[in-house]
Amino acid sequence: FMQRLKVFRVLHRLDEHYRELDENGKPIKKKVDLKRMLSLAKPEAGLITVATLCLLVSSGTTMIAPLFFGKVVDAALISMEKLNLTILILGLIYGVGSIFSFLRAWFFTLSGQRLVARLRKDLFNSVIKQEVAFFDVNRTGELTNRLSSDTQVIQNAITVNMSMLSRNILQIIGSLVIMFVLDPALTGVLLSVVPIVSLGAVQYGYMVKNLRQKFQDRLADASTTAEEALSSIRTVRMFTSEKKTSQHYGSDIDKSYQVGKKLALVQGGFDGVIGIIAYGAIVLVLWYGGKLVNEKQLSPGILTSFLLYTLQVAMSFAMLSSLYGDFMQAVGASIRIFDLMDRKPEIPIEGGSQIVDMEGSVEFQDVFFTYPSRPDTQVLKGVSFKVEPGQVVALVGPSGGGKSTIVNMIERFYDPESGWIRLGGNDLTTLDPQWFRQQISMVSQEPTLFACSIKDNISYGKDCTLEEVVEAAKQANAHNFIMGFEEQYDTLVGERGVRLSGGQKQRVAIARALIMNPSILLLDEATSALDAESEHLVQEAIDHAMKGRTVIVIAHRLSTVRNANVVAVVDKGKIVEQGTHEELLAQDGVYKRLVLRQLMAGATNGLDF
Ligand code: ADP
Repeated sequence: FMQRLKVFRVLHRLDEHYRELDENGKPIKKKVDLKRMLSLAKPEAGLITVATLCLLVSSGTTMIAPLFFGKVVDAALISMEKLNLTILILGLIYGVGSIFSFLRAWFFTLSGQRLVARLRKDLFNSVIKQEVAFFDVNRTGELTNRLSSDTQVIQNAITVNMSMLSRNILQIIGSLVIMFVLDPALTGVLLSVVPIVSLGAVQYGYMVKNLRQKFQDRLADASTTAEEALSSIRTVRMFTSEKKTSQHYGSDIDKSYQVGKKLALVQGGFDGVIGIIAYGAIVLVLWYGGKLVNEKQLSPGILTSFLLYTLQVAMSFAMLSSLYGDFMQAVGASIRIFDLMDRKPEIPIEGGSQIVDMEGSVEFQDVFFTYPSRPDTQVLKGVSFKVEPGQVVALVGPSGGGKSTIVNMIERFYDPESGWIRLGGNDLTTLDPQWFRQQISMVSQEPTLFACSIKDNISYGKDCTLEEVVEAAKQANAHNFIMGFEEQYDTLVGERGVRLSGGQKQRVAIARALIMNPSILLLDEATSALDAESEHLVQEAIDHAMKGRTVIVIAHRLSTVRNANVVAVVDKGKIVEQGTHEELLAQDGVYKRLVLRQLMAGATNGLDF
């Protein structure tokens, strides 16, 4: 039973989790909703009821088996016939018990699997709906952790652990009752040890809980380090910082090891102490029982049964103490999960008006904005401009001025602090995001492709036929290079598109944008140099994509700026100059200085603002 106890402890530790801390590093106390936690199992009520019935039968057999053990001993002292009969009954009891144990375990685990599958889907649905600012604050690793391990902990707690709880409580009560009937005096001797064990267990539980928490926190630090390094392995390699990263991770692990060392001692010590008490109790019962047998007041069989019940009670107690930890952990996990499930996104992903034949005009009026993740820095400070349908507006200006922020706000990734953004004359916050985002396509400098086929990447925003995909790829100058691949449109692009070159990725991204047939196109011109051939193909695709659409482009090339209907110079969160290329040159302001500086620098690969 010590072995089983150890296995439970190991599982227990694997499951432990990080807590949420407030800004002072103190754990945040939140209301525990046990009822709600248990209600997660409601859809599985039928299966759980059947499982519980099986549990009753299997526990029943476990409870009476030791009784027949004793009877076997006594029967052996009488006759072979009696022995055979009793052994047969014992065999039957074990047989029935095993079948029902199997059913119980199967049904409980099955209901747990169903529950966790449901919980994960619900939780993911809730996470994916959150506004972009939420993801600026919450780390991806933590969110996926909630999806994988927090849900697992809850699953265990409300199915497997619940079943273990009822089984052990039943076994303790049942065993004690049978023991009492067998011999009240002997039971009294045994029960005198229980309070000592319980007190020790509670004290120990407290110590271990604190140590484990500390251990988990240290381990979480190490995981963060590992996750960050492994997900940016190219950067690590580039700066040859493998050793540094290893050292960093190593020192994090050493810190967790320091706590782990103490934990090992405390756990070992507990095993020793509990061992002495438990075996002491057995020795005590054995001595007292032996004395009764010697005085012919007790049969050897009953003493045997009694000893087995003693072991059973001890084991059940040990299991109960490990369950307590599991439940506390599940409570923590459920608080985090409910928080996330209940969170209403500040910007909904659907709902609002859809306007038939909306004009593709875009207007910013006095827009102020601060990123929620950086509340002390106002990024846009009163931005106003208007693009008429079919016009091209080029945003230029120094890096960090707020150009990308402006573009992101047209997708309503964030809402303004004050001011308005209008699409076709309608306040963006009144439009159905599901709908208006279909009218807009964005091609960024470093487009994100998904680890699937080229075809699936192009048709990412819209279900469409292969013909439509090919048509879009042709328009985006991507068809030729795609046909050059052995698997053509089924070629897998790898994680984040690593198997394609920069120019290829961009053309796939342009095809993906074109297939939506958007009325508004948001472009972030690449600053990184492509080879001349690629550059030409990408530019041609972009020029083609811009035709007949309202375009807002973060421009880095002089040709783009020249052809734009309006050039807006964005600096420090404001539009400092606005007009056509010629008008702005004539103004002799920031724009002219930018252009001249670029010309003097003699940039070879277009003009980079
Ligand atoms: P530009 O596109 O002109 O280079 P950006 O719009 O990217 O400028 O950035 C404007 C400012 O907003 C910068 O100070 C940048 O640090 C900040 N910023 C950009 N994105 C975020 C974000 N997700 N969270 C917090 N601050 C951001």
